Amino acid sequence: MNITETRAATVLTRSGGYLKEVCTHSLNPYTGCGFGRSSCGVACYVRFNPWVGRGRPWGGFVDVKVNAAERYLETADAERRWARKNGRPFSVFLASSTDPWQPLEQTYRITRQVLDAFLVNPPDVLILQSHSARMRDDAERFEALARKLDLRVHLSIEGDRERLPGLPPPPSPLADRLAALRDFAARGLNAVACLAPLYPMQAPDAFFASLARAGVSAVVLDHFIQGDGTADGSRTRKTPLPAAMAELDPASLHPEYRDSIARVAARHLPVGLSAAGFAGRYSRSF
Ligand code: SF4
Repeated sequence: MNITETRAATVLTRSGGYLKEVCTHSLNPYTGCGFGRSSCGVACYVRFNPWVGRGRPWGGFVDVKVNAAERYLETADAERRWARKNGRPFSVFLASSTDPWQPLEQTYRITRQVLDAFLVNPPDVLILQSHSARMRDDAERFEALARKLDLRVHLSIEGDRERLPGLPPPPSPLADRLAALRDFAARGLNAVACLAPLYPMQAPDAFFASLARAGVSAVVLDHFIQGDGTADGSRTRKTPLPAAMAELDPASLHPEYRDSIARVAARHLPVGLSAAGFAGRYSRSF
C-alpha cells in the first residue's frame, strides 16, 4: 500500500451526477481506499474514475488528507450559503469515493477529526456511509451529531451471503456489520442497511425480518445496472462481479431483480431505491 499524506485544497465537493439528488456536497477524508482489494473493491465504481487513481492501481494507494477537518471549517459557511441559495439544505455525504472507516482511519483518525468539525459547525443533513463495522468506533460521536443535525448512518451490506464465488472476502464479516446496525439502532440512531449493488440473496424474507428486528429504520437497494453510473452496467461488466452473481442466480443480473427483492423487503421495512433511497426517500408499496 502506497500511503501519502496530502493537504487538500478543498474537501467539500459540490454534487453532480448520481449524487446530485442525494446531497449538496460530498466529503472524502481520503483519496483511494484500503478496502480496494476486498469484495466491494472488485467492482467499486470509483476504480474507474481516472481523476481519483491517476494511473495508480485501485486498492494499492491511499492519500491521507491531513487537513480535511481544517478545510471543512474554513469553507462550511460559504458552502452552506451556496446550498441554501439553491433552495436546498446543506447536506453532506461522507463519503462518495472512499471508505471513511477504512483500516488507515485507526492510525490517522481523519474521519474522526471531520466528525468533530461537524460538531463545531454542523451541516443540516449528514449521511455517513461505510462497509466497515469499525464505524462503531465513533458511535458516541454519531449520537452527539444526531442531537444537532439530521443524521443517517448507512452501512453497506450487499446481501445475506458472506462470500460470492471467486471474490475476495468483504471488508467486515456480515455478522459484525449486522451487530453494528443493531448497536446504532439501540442508540436511537437512524440506521440504514444499503444493499448496493445488490448481490443474489439466499433467504431475503428472513434477512429483512432480521434487519427489522435489529431496529434498522430502512433499507436502500440498488442494482449495478445504472447504479454503477452507466445505463447498461457496462463498467461492472468489465469486472468479475457479474460472473460471480450469475453462478449463484442468473436472474440477479437483471435490474428487475432489485424490484422483486424490494417487494420482499417492503413487507418488513421502508425501502428506498437507488439515488432516491440514498436521499432518504422510502416507500412500503412496490
Ligand atoms: S469500501 Fe467503498 S470505496 Fe472502498 S473499495 Fe469498497 S466500495 Fe469502493
